[in-house]
Amino acid sequence: MEDSQFDVIIVGAGVMGSSTAYQAAKRGLKTLLLEQFDFLHHRGSSHGESRTIRATYIQNHYYPMVMESYKLWKEAQAQVGYNVYFKAQHLDMGPFNDPVVHSVVENCRKHKIPHQLLNHQQVAEKFSGKFNLPANWVGLSTEYGGILKPTKATAMFQTLAYKNGAVLKDNTKVTDIKNDGGVVVFTANGEKFRGKKCVVTVGAWANKLVKRISGVEIPIKPVETHVCYWRIKKGHEGKFVIGGDFPTFASFGKAYVYGTPVLEYPGLIKAAVHGGRLCDPDKRPWGSVVMMNELKEWVEGIFGGVVDSSEPVVKQSCMYSMTPDEDFVIDFLGGEFGKNVVLGVGFSGHGFKMAPVIGKILTQLVVDGETNEVDLKHFRIGRFQMASKI
Ligand SMILES: Cc1cc2nc3c(=O)[nH]c(=O)nc-3n(C[C@H](O)[C@H](O)[C@H](O)COP(=O)(O)OP(=O)(O)OC[C@H]3O[C@@H](n4cnc5c(N)ncnc54)[C@H](O)[C@@H]3O)c2cc1C
Repeated sequence: MEDSQFDVIIVGAGVMGSSTAYQAAKRGLKTLLLEQFDFLHHRGSSHGESRTIRATYIQNHYYPMVMESYKLWKEAQAQVGYNVYFKAQHLDMGPFNDPVVHSVVENCRKHKIPHQLLNHQQVAEKFSGKFNLPANWVGLSTEYGGILKPTKATAMFQTLAYKNGAVLKDNTKVTDIKNDGGVVVFTANGEKFRGKKCVVTVGAWANKLVKRISGVEIPIKPVETHVCYWRIKKGHEGKFVIGGDFPTFASFGKAYVYGTPVLEYPGLIKAAVHGGRLCDPDKRPWGSVVMMNELKEWVEGIFGGVVDSSEPVVKQSCMYSMTPDEDFVIDFLGGEFGKNVVLGVGFSGHGFKMAPVIGKILTQLVVDGETNEVDLKHFRIGRFQMASKI
């Protein structure tokens, strides 16, 4: 395969690279997907058992991307023949005067997302007492929630990419990308691949690789974070399972807590803090959970004592790649590479749900040089003040 010519070389086979490989191969491009570790490894951002999909956002631009993704998740499932999406309602909650809660409600109104704004008693009634909100909190309930299975979904995109003719290669770390009118991609194994275009979807390694190839420092910070699962007390397990009325949820109080109905581990409910500690993705600390006391307090209070808040039973470590404004980076690298290198990075802990549309957008940028899915101004690298050598 050495020195082979591809239409597009995709670097990084997390969910974003895998979804892009599927979309590119489906559009008939000769596609190569390269991954530094084993496929479906647990050292990046796309592994594990559950991710939330929800339509409620404080920013305007994500709603159409989420809605297109719901459609594309279902199409991909139909192609592969198994499910990675499991339907649930979604509940956002927080103090009634919290600006985030206000923005989310505003956005629901703006996009005409059917929703119910509920006081704490109405939340208790709607969800049969499963959420015990403080008296000054409100809940925002919508039908647009659900769980995605991350490892399975990433595998699904890789399978579909392969079925559509893509070449997939793991244990192949990209060390450099050079411009020769197209791109030449160099690997740590001493291989060299030529492509007309290249898509960089390297998650928390974005800053390292982009700096190496272009000298540009994009301000994407790798953050180690944790998912926690808590034991539901005896006799209450059935209340929290997927398929009933228990929703995916996000809570905007002292800590931003999120979670999903019981699906992956019977008897355990997921509740975790959106946050973590800066890390080097190549020297992971495998450290402790941040804001554990706040999380325990939340589990005890909001679940009204029916979930054991003494310690999480399962903790899983994962990485975010955070931009300063938590918006994604979807753009051409520019400089000497012009439109030949496309970046899809900085998904800031909330990208999984939109992986199908992101794969579609990145492929449009490769093939068409533009996208009609979203206004890219929210995702341009030019929005950051950057140190640059070029
Ligand atoms: C705990 C946790 C909970 C989350 N919850 C949600 C949620 O509920 N809803 C939601 O929508 N999103 C959620 N997210 C965010 C979502 O999972 C990420 O946005 C998404 O997985 C990012 O995928 P990625 O492909 O960009 O990164 P990754 O999955 O990290 O993939 C990047 C890949 O590039 C490879 N790579 C890096 N450098 C090189 C190189 N030089 N050569 C070759 N390969 C390379 C890496 O090994 C890696 O496999 C969560 C994330 C975490 C960690």
